[in-house]
Amino acid sequence: MARVHLETIRKIYPNGFEAVTPTSFDIPDGEFVVLVGPSGCGKSTLLRMIAGLEDITEGTLSIGDRVVNGVDPADRDIAMVFQNYALYPHMTVRRNIAYGLQNRKIDKATIEQKVQEAATMLNLTEYLDRKPAQLSGGQRQRVAMGRAIVRDPALFLFDEPLSNLDAKLRNQMRIEIKALQRRLGVTSIYVTHDQVEAMTMADRIIVMNGGKVEQIGTPHEVYHNPASTFVASFMGAPPMNLLEARFEDGMVRINGGTPVMPAPAARTGNVTLGIRPEDVRIDDAGDIPFHVDLVEELGAHRLLHGQLGDQTFSIHAMKDEPAPQGATRLSLIPDNICLFDSETGKRI
Ligand code: ATP
Repeated sequence: MARVHLETIRKIYPNGFEAVTPTSFDIPDGEFVVLVGPSGCGKSTLLRMIAGLEDITEGTLSIGDRVVNGVDPADRDIAMVFQNYALYPHMTVRRNIAYGLQNRKIDKATIEQKVQEAATMLNLTEYLDRKPAQLSGGQRQRVAMGRAIVRDPALFLFDEPLSNLDAKLRNQMRIEIKALQRRLGVTSIYVTHDQVEAMTMADRIIVMNGGKVEQIGTPHEVYHNPASTFVASFMGAPPMNLLEARFEDGMVRINGGTPVMPAPAARTGNVTLGIRPEDVRIDDAGDIPFHVDLVEELGAHRLLHGQLGDQTFSIHAMKDEPAPQGATRLSLIPDNICLFDSETGKRI
């Protein structure tokens, strides 16, 4: 069993900076969790604490049934895949993959068999005698994966493993890593600042901001039910549109008075209205005026960017939907509107 449990884990660096505020969550055995957030939000610090590369200031970390706070990284039964792959340039692919097994008193024949199995899984058999310099970026990444796989760890930790690859290869590798993780069923924690990677790879996403967890949920939950304006604007490209709005006469009103939906009971004052670009329709009969400044053609769909009153706003339109330039009108899909507290940014 490799359930991972964090109980009020906190990190204060020696200079006094609190990089991770007390954080608790539970990762069931076999789950693929992605830690995502902007640069500096504390995701690498959290991962490094789990790996044992960084001391835990407070709290309890368990992997399986063991509390591992004081356990050496090598004894945590984890395998880590880094951004820079950490391959040995003077060793062949075979020796690089076998490297993690050599101090484990495993006989040569078993090591060779494990290397062959991993190489087959990763399509590396024909490269086993090459050195890393004779491989492409994607192949090097696979060697790093191979080294992790042969150790049969209880937990995989990935630290931005795809960020050195070009966009096309990144898309391909994220599918490969996800498929491999499914097949092996190993609990995995994957750190990235790329929200597309988070959405496409995760069983559950943990969104971090300023050393705190903002939301934990499935990609669907985090995207469609963001817990805060931070999550709403971090997840999705373009992000959720956020408009200043007001509760007035029992309605939510935007743009100086246009009603868009009934207000929750007994609410008054300001509110932030969130709506995803794909939940907006160009609609001649709509009562929201919109001015399209720029159309981005993306093949199967297009993005219309412009002004709603004095606020910037984006719309997602399929290729066979109208793409007006200049002045037009909109309607919003009321069921897909999210309301946030204007002061705290938290979901209402
Ligand atoms: P990135 O995506 O840029 O790697 P991150 O979310 O992984 O960012 P961390 O590397 O965990 O962020 O850093 C979190 C915060 O802790 C940052 O503000 C960083 O400057 C600070 N920090 C990291 N290492 C130390 C250290 N050794 N001493 C003091 N502060 C540190």
